[in-house]
Amino acid sequence: MPDSKLEDCLARAGEKPHNLSPAEVEWLLGLPSSDLPALYQAAYRVKERVSGRSVSIRGLIEMGNVCAKDCYYCGIRRSNSRVRRYQLDKSDILRLSAWAYAQGYGSLVIQAGESESEAHTRFIEDLLPEIAALSGGALGVTLSLGEQEDEVFRRWRSAGAHRYLLRIETSSPRLYQALHPADHLYERRRRCLAVLRDLGYQVGTGVMSGLPGQSRADLAADIEFFRQMDVDMIGMGPYIPHPDTPLGKDRELTPEYRSSQLELGLRMIAVTRLYLHDVNLAATTALQALADNGREQGLLAGANVIMPNLTDLEYRRDYQLYQGKPCLEESAGQCRGCLEARVVGVGESIRWGERGDSLHYQQRFSSPLD
Ligand code: SAM
Ligand code: SF4
Repeated sequence: MPDSKLEDCLARAGEKPHNLSPAEVEWLLGLPSSDLPALYQAAYRVKERVSGRSVSIRGLIEMGNVCAKDCYYCGIRRSNSRVRRYQLDKSDILRLSAWAYAQGYGSLVIQAGESESEAHTRFIEDLLPEIAALSGGALGVTLSLGEQEDEVFRRWRSAGAHRYLLRIETSSPRLYQALHPADHLYERRRRCLAVLRDLGYQVGTGVMSGLPGQSRADLAADIEFFRQMDVDMIGMGPYIPHPDTPLGKDRELTPEYRSSQLELGLRMIAVTRLYLHDVNLAATTALQALADNGREQGLLAGANVIMPNLTDLEYRRDYQLYQGKPCLEESAGQCRGCLEARVVGVGESIRWGERGDSLHYQQRFSSPLD
């Protein structure tokens, strides 16, 4: 039974966005486990008000695992020589996009390792109009291709990209530097988010929770960072070790570690929903990697977006950011049926055929006189 301090706090948070003090955000993140049902229910009520009992869906295409960067936590980092590198060609991506459109997906996410070459920039620039053509412009496209020069973001926006997902990973510059080589700069990443917003993208960011050296205060600051950056979408998830990385090599994925990482990921979703209200919030694959029903738990804690994997099976094993990636054996068609059953199983429905722009973004662009 939640005490009255908790009841008051949750009721107040539910009334309007940003109605929690920094100390309360941090306190909610550390509630005892017995209070978590109350936290999740309060967040779910806000989610229900914002987007109903329904889930927006994006088809995820893992376009390639070649990466110029060396983030200490990531399985496809440049220095991991055990990875078989691949890059999908245009015809593969268009085939997956056409399939997704025919199946009723309203949006795609195109994700890959980072490259700043002109060839890569042009590849994406040429691809985007072809994706638009196959759906008569109906498919929404989110890019998640790392940091780029302003001009590259501008070219991709002009070519038809609608959204961009660039996680800040952690809003703490100190922790960011500890998780990356010296030439990976926090300030550049943060600036990219501002540029994307100025260019009219729907902007998504996010963090990993449960990182080594991360405190609850850091996570509370991450949620405040989302507010300050005025982002439209958030894709965050628990950190999961990968054995072939500097950060993950000595970290065992015990059952206790799994469940505490999952719980922290769910707490982050719930408190973020309670604090920001109208953003799109993804129940990410990392949740599912920690528990078979992790994504459904994410939906019940306040998430409203899921991103099933469309990548062909032959490449899925080569895009392993962390250990225990789910759905390595299920094709996109099998994923579709399984997903629908899972979503319906928690009392929600899928918004097939809709782009699913975040309410936050829509309101950013509607003038007060409308
Ligand atoms: N390269 C682009 C970038 O970094 O923005 C996009 C692809 S990158 C693989 C997508 C996200 O994977 C990263 O933003 C990071 O948060 C997440 N990720 C990488 N390694 C992870 C790990 N070990 N556990 C959980 N998430 C991880
Ligand atoms: Fe590359 Fe992104 Fe992985 Fe960093 S997180 S190594 S940029 S794919």
